[in-house]
Amino acid sequence: MMARYVLPELRYDYSALEPHISARVMELHHGKHHAAYVKNANAALERLDEALGKGDFQSVVHLERTLAFNLSGHMLHSIFWQSMGPDGSEEPGGDLQRVIERDFGSFDRFRRLMNEVAASIMGSGWAALVWEPASARLLVAQIYDHQSNVVQCGIPIMVIDAWEHAYYLQYENRKSEFFDSLWNVWNWSDIAGRFDAVRGTAVGLRGAADAA
Ligand code: MN
Repeated sequence: MMARYVLPELRYDYSALEPHISARVMELHHGKHHAAYVKNANAALERLDEALGKGDFQSVVHLERTLAFNLSGHMLHSIFWQSMGPDGSEEPGGDLQRVIERDFGSFDRFRRLMNEVAASIMGSGWAALVWEPASARLLVAQIYDHQSNVVQCGIPIMVIDAWEHAYYLQYENRKSEFFDSLWNVWNWSDIAGRFDAVRGTAVGLRGAADAA
């Protein structure tokens, strides 16, 4: 029996992030868009299994693309929901704050970089704060769709959804207002927990970067 991906339950109500994100946007985004990525990721895995069973290798290229898109969409949305909450604080504090300041110069520069990376995406994508294990530092990545332009081996710990479905119903063409407003709802203790969980890993890499 294969494990199946599931839509994670939110730890807060759909209305809990208002006025920054409306309940209707949350309901559609989590209940419809994210749910579809989960369903399609499971379906792609099942079809891959069937194709291999039948020796149908022609389908594999297409199914791998479908799997990468939908599974990445599932992972990024799962991080996004968890990274927010109604009791947000302005800055993370602690080790995460210190490493952000070390790697980006200041917290404000990091915040502006995340927003600029989100705002400058042509089409659909994400801004992601990732832990880059070879050089043991944080990077901001600009991800197209859900999986293109990804920093391989980089582990996302915080993401901004810059697809139109994330804001258009509420902010229309004013997407920068949406990106700014997110900084009222970050759950820094969740993000710092993810940072603590991944910062020790070098994913088995040795000698791929100079020691700092
Ligand atoms: Mn989305």
